[in-house]
Amino acid sequence: MMFVDIDNKNCSFEKNQKLVENIRRLKKERNAIILTHNYQRPEIQDIGDHCGDSLGLCRIAASSNADVICFCGVRFMAESAAILNPGKKVILPAPEAGCSLADDLSIETLRTLKSKYPNAAVVCYVNSSAGVKAESDICCTSANAVQVVNSLKDYEEVLFVPDHNLGHYVSLHTDKKVYLAEVYCNAHHDLEKADAVRLKKLHPNAKFIAHPECKPEVLELADFVSSTSGMSKYVGDSGAREFIVGTEIGMVYRLQKDFPEYLFYPVSDKMICNDMKLITLERLAYSLETLTPVVEVPEKIRLKAKQALDRMMKIK
Ligand code: SF4
Repeated sequence: MMFVDIDNKNCSFEKNQKLVENIRRLKKERNAIILTHNYQRPEIQDIGDHCGDSLGLCRIAASSNADVICFCGVRFMAESAAILNPGKKVILPAPEAGCSLADDLSIETLRTLKSKYPNAAVVCYVNSSAGVKAESDICCTSANAVQVVNSLKDYEEVLFVPDHNLGHYVSLHTDKKVYLAEVYCNAHHDLEKADAVRLKKLHPNAKFIAHPECKPEVLELADFVSSTSGMSKYVGDSGAREFIVGTEIGMVYRLQKDFPEYLFYPVSDKMICNDMKLITLERLAYSLETLTPVVEVPEKIRLKAKQALDRMMKIK
C-alpha cells in the first residue's frame, strides 16, 4: 500500500506559507475557484473557497462565475464539474485520484445488470464514472439517495449502483424493490462492528455518527446515519458535545474546525481514503500555475450524464 503523509510533516511551516501565498495569487490571476472535499488534507481544506460534500460542491460548480474550477477531490467529482460546466476549464491536481466505487463498476457490468432488471429505474450514486452516469436514469448523492429513489413514482423497482452499502441503506427506507451491485468503498467498508463497539465503550456519552457507505451492522450501532453535510448539521442541532465519527478521517478535521467547543473521536484511524490524500499544496500550486491536468468528458457522454445529474439537481 502506498504511504500517505497525511499530516504533511515533511513540509515546513515556511514552505507551506509560501505555497499558500502562491496559490492565492494564482487563483486570482486565473479567475479560479478551489473546491475541496471534506476528506482532503487539512491544509487543502483550509485553502479552498468552498469545502463540502459531493452534492454541495456540484451545486457550487454549476453556479460559479470562475473560468477555472480547481477540484480538490477525486476524478469522478472533477468529471461531474466538467459535465455541468462545459465552458469552463476543470483541473484536478492529482489526475490519478480514483475511487473504488467509481473504478469498480464498468459500463459493461452496468449493462449486464440493466438487462437482468429491465423494469428497474437506474439510480446511480455520483461516485461513479461519467460513462456509468450516462447509462443511468438519475444520479443521487449520499445526502439525497433516499429522496431520489422515492421520487421515482413511475417505478416499483430500482437498480442502485455502484455502492452496495448505500443501496442497502436506501432499501430500508423505501417500498420499492432495490437491486444492488457488489461494489464497495474501501475506506468505509473496512470499518468493523468491533471498532464501533470499542469506541462506544470508550466514550459512552458520545453520539455515533456514521456514513451510509459503512456496513449495515455498523450502521445499526449509529445514533445518526448521514452524508458528511448531514453530519455537520446534526452536530450543530443535536445538543450533544461528543461525537464518534464514522467516516473518512478528514471529516474529523472539518468538524473540529467548525465546532471547536465539541469533542470528536475518529471511530478508527484506519478510515483513510488514500486517493483523497494525493493532493498536496505543491501539486495544487503546480496545477494552478500550468492549468493542468484538465479533466474532460467526451461530448456524447457528457450530454447523457448531464441529464442524470440535472434530474437529481431538480429534487430539492
Ligand atoms: S472515501 Fe470511498 S467513496 Fe469516497 S472517494 Fe474514497 S474510495 Fe471513493
